[in-house]
Amino acid sequence: MTSDEPPRPIVSIVIPAHNEAENLPILLRELCATITPLARLQIVCVDDGSTDGTFAVLLDAAKQDHRIKYIRLSRNFGHQAALRAGLFYSTGDCVVSMDADLQHPVRLVPDMIKKWQEGYEVVLTKRKQSDDLPIFKRFTSDLFYLVINGLSDVYIDPGSADFRLLDRKVVDVVKSLSETDFFLRGIIPWVGFKSCNIEYMPDRRRFGDTKYSLRKMISFAISGVVSNSIRPLRIATLLSAMISGLAALYMLYAVHIYFVYGQVVPGWASVVVVVCFIGGLQLLVMGVVGEYIGRILRESRKRPGFVVSATNMNAQAGE
Ligand code: UDP
Ligand code: MG
Repeated sequence: MTSDEPPRPIVSIVIPAHNEAENLPILLRELCATITPLARLQIVCVDDGSTDGTFAVLLDAAKQDHRIKYIRLSRNFGHQAALRAGLFYSTGDCVVSMDADLQHPVRLVPDMIKKWQEGYEVVLTKRKQSDDLPIFKRFTSDLFYLVINGLSDVYIDPGSADFRLLDRKVVDVVKSLSETDFFLRGIIPWVGFKSCNIEYMPDRRRFGDTKYSLRKMISFAISGVVSNSIRPLRIATLLSAMISGLAALYMLYAVHIYFVYGQVVPGWASVVVVVCFIGGLQLLVMGVVGEYIGRILRESRKRPGFVVSATNMNAQAGE
């Protein structure tokens, strides 16, 4: 950035990266080449506890181009926390978040900026179903959105990833949220503002493997549901009410045949089945309640969502 540059908007690009040493240099090069003619650029790379050469790559890139900023988290806090860190530190008039693995095509960013200049405050992207995507990934992704949309109050468009543009106003609202359990995909529909959607065909991950293991994916889905809604609690209540109703009917039946026909309902098996079923259901409901209580504990501790161990930026608002 030179001082004689006309006052063009500043676009911040936030890139969470966990072990992406091979992908990052290509992405940074593509971004600089594509965005520089359109806007002033700030690239905020968040090294989310990488164990490969990611940080060295970032240090080197920042030395060569002062528009490239790095935030190194003290350990692996997870994709959402890394995104949050990036949003926290970015200073642009709008902020684009994208993955480091080149699956989110850089060529789409100018279109997103154009939409923003037309007045949209949130520019979302929707991934078209790609045949390139492994079947397992497609299946888990579909299941993820099915669970989230079935069990929580906000609707998250399937195929929407964390590839979006946010106006500074929206970023400031997101920054003001103090929840520990940060799930940006659920927060964005909640925040509102004028939004639009752009469809794209995802590229292939250039190097390395997905950083979302099945375990991380399940925990991400639970977090998505529980941090967005109390619908599972309602479902648990409804289910319990239904089962209680059925149990009451069965009791009436047993009493009826005892007094009217002098019989006792036979069957050890049916008793065991009923006891096991009710026991299982109780444990399930307790598990659901436990998820919420655990989260209340986490929120009540008020720990920050991420810890920064090194950066070449200034924190904007504490944390
Ligand atoms: N990522 C991260 N921390 C993590 C896992 C992932 O910062 O704990 C980053 C990762 O480097 C990538 C983005 O989040 O830039 C999305 O991850 P990935 O591509 O593995 O997810 P997928 O595209 O398979 O859903
Ligand atoms: Mg990816």
